[in-house]
Amino acid sequence: MDNILPAYNDPLFSILIIIILILIVALSSLVVGNYKEKKKKSSLKKFLSNFKKENTLLNIEDMPFEKALIKPLSLLAEAFKTQGEYQKSINLNLYLIDNIHNFFEKEKILEQLGETYLKGGFLKRSKLIYLEILHKHPRNKRALFYLGIVYELLHEFDKALEILTPLEILGEDTKKLQAHIELSKLLEKKSLPKADKVKKLTQLLQKQEYPYRRIMKALFSLNLETAWQNLDPNRIDTVLDILWFLPSLNLNFDIISRNKKLCAIYFAKGTLETEELSQKSNIFSIDTIIAAKIGGKDNIDLLFSYGCGKCKNHFPIGFTRCPKCYAIDSIQIKETLVQQQSQTGYSLL
Ligand SMILES: [Zn+2]
Repeated sequence: MDNILPAYNDPLFSILIIIILILIVALSSLVVGNYKEKKKKSSLKKFLSNFKKENTLLNIEDMPFEKALIKPLSLLAEAFKTQGEYQKSINLNLYLIDNIHNFFEKEKILEQLGETYLKGGFLKRSKLIYLEILHKHPRNKRALFYLGIVYELLHEFDKALEILTPLEILGEDTKKLQAHIELSKLLEKKSLPKADKVKKLTQLLQKQEYPYRRIMKALFSLNLETAWQNLDPNRIDTVLDILWFLPSLNLNFDIISRNKKLCAIYFAKGTLETEELSQKSNIFSIDTIIAAKIGGKDNIDLLFSYGCGKCKNHFPIGFTRCPKCYAIDSIQIKETLVQQQSQTGYSLL
């Protein structure tokens, strides 16, 4: 033995000790690393197991997994999501997440799962998925963006505002988004007296990043006088549906009579009788109704629908965030001429 090990005063002995120490440190960090990775995996698995096996519509649970399946199954999950078959899409995503062990390989699938939960109305689950993604990858812009939407839909506006800082750090322009969330928070604030809310809304009209249509809609329901006083003659087209559906009692004829476009709108609607029939509003549908009225046809009405300027989808009711692509301030009003069915006496407010 004495011949194998160097003597303790031999320089070789110190080198041997150093090598043994390095080996011990390397081995222990490998063991600790493996343990941490295992713990991470099991925590994600445990977390996702809460969402599993509700209505297993696809029998994929026992299907043997192969890496080649990832792409086609992801595409299939996406297709199910687009068709509104959310549970099928969710099950496919959960199957993939279960079988892929590296977080960064399944990050996109987790994002898709979060979005499907959001689309399907499972807001709390969607929130948990995005929080889980951000826990492992805090710089994931898409997850931050969607988490903000989820918070907004849950009416957790302060948390939605907190998302803006990391988005800004990641280079996003968040001015309009901030205005959108702050306006939602203000409109929701029940403790604020009505007069203060009206005052604040009027101030916000001066700020370019705040959506004009949303503020005007709120003003018309809170304080008619202030709404009429602040109606911008250059942006009448953007609130045409709101003006069209206002009950006659809510009209301010002083202001209407001073504006040719407003006169034309209410003449077309049949609220105003005017002899100046040649007045043009420069709104095609309104001018067509007036022309028909002059020609003796008196039963044309307007039917409104709402388009998204970003994804170009159309919806029968208005929105503040596009239901399809979640864009803000993207609403476009489309009016169609229809035959009048009965006297419409309802308001949008
Ligand atoms: Zn859209």
